[in-house]
Order: sequence, then structure tokens, then C-alpha cells
Amino acid sequence: MDDSQLLRYSRHILLDEIGIEGQQALLDAHALVIGAGGLGSPAAMYLASAGVGHITLVDNDTVDLTNLQRQIAHTTQRVGQPKAESARLTLQQINPDITVTALNERVDDARLAQLVAQADVVLDCTDNFATRHAVNRACVAAGKPLVSGAVIRFDGQISVFDPRSGAQPCYSCLFPQDQKFEDVACSTMGVFAPLVGVVGAMQAAEALKLLMGVGASLAGRLMMLDGLHMEWTSIGVARNGACPVCAAQ
Ligand SMILES: [Zn+2]
Repeated sequence: MDDSQLLRYSRHILLDEIGIEGQQALLDAHALVIGAGGLGSPAAMYLASAGVGHITLVDNDTVDLTNLQRQIAHTTQRVGQPKAESARLTLQQINPDITVTALNERVDDARLAQLVAQADVVLDCTDNFATRHAVNRACVAAGKPLVSGAVIRFDGQISVFDPRSGAQPCYSCLFPQDQKFEDVACSTMGVFAPLVGVVGAMQAAEALKLLMGVGASLAGRLMMLDGLHMEWTSIGVARNGACPVCAAQ
């Protein structure tokens, strides 16, 4: 780290749990953020400000006026531009030291496998079950920790699925692939803007902890937020021994 980096990251380096070593681990790390919307915006902005050395952002959507109420990486001027590129500009303005790769593409299983294999941690900031399951399968197969967040209306949830520990559940243990969960889209249900900030920031916190190997992650726990009454509930999540995704791993 040069003098400018020591200053930029000084409030992290001051923390005993982080120090130079933890900050260096972040600088050496590669995070994959899937979705540059409501959750992906704050999550990626904190990863960038905290100095994660390489961030890959994936999103195939373009910035729409209706996104700006909550997707804080984007601006009015960038309506119509690809979200991944818009978010990349924001991250590089926050921190020009890091590398940000913006992928304006819809990823299939093969592409996900390729991208996940290159990452140290994966943040699922998407909004539909099909992609969530595809991301989970790729993370289990590659043995990469997955930080998963979701928000709809006034409700949020977050958990970590860490296949590096054989005892931990995967996303599919919690939400089986063959169960028909209805996708409830923000476009029809609405979403309270700051809740994506709360959950997205927590996803960044969990990802940073995983990259530095500090503290205890949310693996094996699901936290649910009732934003209307501002109450958190934390429940234990067990591994499903018959889970078609992780049981064979
Ligand atoms: Zn599983």
C-alpha cells in the first residue's frame, strides 16, 4: 500500500480486526456482484469504497426513471444507459484505485460457472428465483461463498451460504428449486427505497468479513427485516441432506 492508500483506508486499518493485513486482503480480492439495481448499488459502492481490488458487476438491464427512487448507483443523466456501466462509473468515481469490470449481459449457467470460478465471494443482488438458483448452483459447484439479499415492499432478508463448510445449507436447502415460489417484482408490488440500502449494505458487510476472514458470517442463519415496524427476526437454517444441489458435493 502506498501513502495515499494508507490514508484512504486508515479507518479500516485502525480496527484491530482488520489492520494492514485485512485491508490488503480486500485489495487482493475479487467480488462478483450479480445485479446492479437496488441491492447491487449500495453493496457494490461499499465494496468499492472499502477497497475490494476487483469488482465484477453483471446486469443486462438499462437505467430507467423508475429505478432512481432506490438504485443509488445511477443518476438521472444516465437513464437509458446499461446499468452495469452506469454503476461502474459511480464505483470508479468513489475509488479510482480499484478495477471494476462491467458486464452488460444476461448470464446463463455456463457463463455463471466461469464468472463464479474467478471470484472470491459472490453477491446475489438479483430479483428472481431462476437467477438466484442458477447463482447458487454455480457457487456450490465452485465452492464459493454466496451472500444473498432480497427486498420487496417493506420486507427484507439476508443470509450467507458458504459451501466451504460442509455443515452449512445452500440457498436451495432453504428455497427448494422444485417449489413454486412466486416472483414478486418491484414493478408490481413496490419497494420501500431505504430497505434495499439496509440489506445491500449488510451484504457488503458480510462479503468484506468473508474476504478478510473476520467475525462470524450469517451462514446457517436467515435474517428477516420487517421495515414497517423495524423489527429483525433471525432464524436458524439447517442443511437439507437430500438437497439436489449441495447434498452430492
Ligand atoms: Zn442445499
